Amino acid sequence: MQAERVLAGLDPEQRAVAEAVQGPVCVLAGAGTGKTRAITHRIAYATLTGVVAPQRVLAVTFTTRAAGELRARLRQLGAPGVQARTFHAAALRQLSYFWPRVVGGEPPKIIESKIGLVADAARACRLAFGRTELRDIAGEIEWAKVTQHRPEDYAGAVATASRKMPADVVDVARVYAMYEQLRRERNLLDFEGMLELTAAVLTEHREVAAQVREQYRHFVVDEFQDVNPLQKLLLDTWLGDRDDLCVVGDPNQTIYSFTGASPSYLLDFTREHPDAKVVKLVRDYRSSPQVVRLANGVIGLARGEAARRHRLELVAQRPDGPDPVFSEYDDEIAEADDVARRARKLVEEGVPARRIAVLFRINAQSETFESALAAAGVPYVLRGAERFFERPEVREAVIRLRGAARAGADAETDGTGLIATVRHVLSGAGFSDRPPEGSGAVRSRWESLAALAQLAEDIAADDPRAGLPEFVAELEERAAAQHAPPLEGVTLASLHAAKGLEWDAVFLVGLVEGTLPIIYAETPEQVEEERRLLYVGITRAREHLSLSWALSRSPGGSRRRRPSRFLDGLTPGTMTPTPARADRAKRRPAKGPQPCRVCERPLTAPIERKLGRCEDCPAELNEELLLALKDWRGRVAADQKIPAYVVFTDATLQ
Ligand code: ATP
Ligand code: MG
Repeated sequence: MQAERVLAGLDPEQRAVAEAVQGPVCVLAGAGTGKTRAITHRIAYATLTGVVAPQRVLAVTFTTRAAGELRARLRQLGAPGVQARTFHAAALRQLSYFWPRVVGGEPPKIIESKIGLVADAARACRLAFGRTELRDIAGEIEWAKVTQHRPEDYAGAVATASRKMPADVVDVARVYAMYEQLRRERNLLDFEGMLELTAAVLTEHREVAAQVREQYRHFVVDEFQDVNPLQKLLLDTWLGDRDDLCVVGDPNQTIYSFTGASPSYLLDFTREHPDAKVVKLVRDYRSSPQVVRLANGVIGLARGEAARRHRLELVAQRPDGPDPVFSEYDDEIAEADDVARRARKLVEEGVPARRIAVLFRINAQSETFESALAAAGVPYVLRGAERFFERPEVREAVIRLRGAARAGADAETDGTGLIATVRHVLSGAGFSDRPPEGSGAVRSRWESLAALAQLAEDIAADDPRAGLPEFVAELEERAAAQHAPPLEGVTLASLHAAKGLEWDAVFLVGLVEGTLPIIYAETPEQVEEERRLLYVGITRAREHLSLSWALSRSPGGSRRRRPSRFLDGLTPGTMTPTPARADRAKRRPAKGPQPCRVCERPLTAPIERKLGRCEDCPAELNEELLLALKDWRGRVAADQKIPAYVVFTDATLQ
């Protein structure tokens, strides 16, 4: 029976999670122990046994990629049709569905960044702030809204939470109050407002709550350690008086408490749900024993209550791998060059580039590594897979592929036939085997087409009989689910964005004081959060792990930096020597102005170049959310009355 097969790939504890098809269930476990796997199999088992209808499940994850992977894994397990979304995307879809009927009037415009409105609010209060202060105040307003503190409670809340203030606390509270006033006057909605308003609509309109609760009866939340009070409020509103909720998380991976998230919801789950089934997982299926040992070492030194209460030592299951490599360099260019050289060596040894990642603390660190990888001829992923199916080259390729499928271009039906046909069609759109020189739009276009070519290879490997019609069907299904194929290239990502993911080889770079921990981490709690970020980074590696730092920023730089304090006691006595300087100072590819990684406008202001994006663009991109935003905007523009969102396919909401 298919349902039994779903259980076969699990160990006894994971199996206990999957078999507890009705909540409340809480899984508290370390990185790589199969939490995400356990909930995926649990959903599949519940739907395949018929206990739960797929459309009654709402699985909430924190990133689009995680949501996409969950949907893909469920499809592979034979259980499609489950809603897997981020909190914001789920809320926005519900809100836009109910808006015309229960709120009415002009829908608000959604603002993706607060900074403009904060600047207006400060001006209206006759307060003069620089851009950095305005940005920090915007961060404070976000924190206050996420933790559910109104402007009048803000000063008191700040005192209890011992937050570092960008300006006088009374002034911040005034700007916050004015921000809310202007926001209402201008009919704007910010990200927190989206969740707040959805919860309010459900609370105030019983028939809406009844409809949503009829639609969704089973809730699953991954990465529950990073839930914030506002998200918790929304989740409680969705649940009503039911408790069919399964949460999984790892307190040692709490990395969003600076924005108001709290692991206490995970740690105190049984207090709220006394009859909850609690499962602990300790076997680490992801990483080699060498990586696991280092991860245990880093988190063993962690301080704080959660760390004390939950040691969560990992027990390695995989065979031995190489020892983690610690490297010190004179400057960042030397570090980037050597990381690129080692990444190339791995690729030459047969590790696919997409199974390699370079992870850093702040996005401004990315550029040096991009240049070094480009110079070493290593493909890398420039901007992730955001909005993949909306990229013009992907649209064009899909149209060509549809045409070819209709014309019956795919005469052969073995796997090589599919690969050759897809490559032939893609070459018509400008694809060639070799990546173009340099970076930018041409490079990015090639990456998209290469991802489609790779997808054909993957599909042919899974099913040698697959032909072009099957390939096109897969593309259409993926486009509907916004599930981008993996781009062929080394991933460059921040530690925050790497959460939940894994690679065969991981390079953790720039591990110096001031960057990790970040310079503005001042309180012991903030420093602990930085340590957890390192733990998250280390535990992304399956086999090869490199940790590196540079003593000065640029060649010949006089300011000496110290390796991250978190490495104290962990670095072995002997380290790889810094390679000779060679001609690296000469090497800097000529480039046009650096583009914003969100909107791709050329960046001119130094602060923006440092950030890698326009100051007004969102820091963390969330593909699913941006799509939902686009939907919303489209609806506002078209003044559509009832949008037909896939989220409510059930007859109750027709
Ligand atoms: P994180 O805390 O980083 O989110 P996680 O606990 O969610 O990690 P998963 O991503 O579910 O862990 O699993 C880690 C890796 O181990 C995955 O590659 C997964 O397929 C594999 N894995 C998990 N459980 C098993 C198992 N029982 N047998 C074989 N492989 C497993
Ligand atoms: Mg996970």
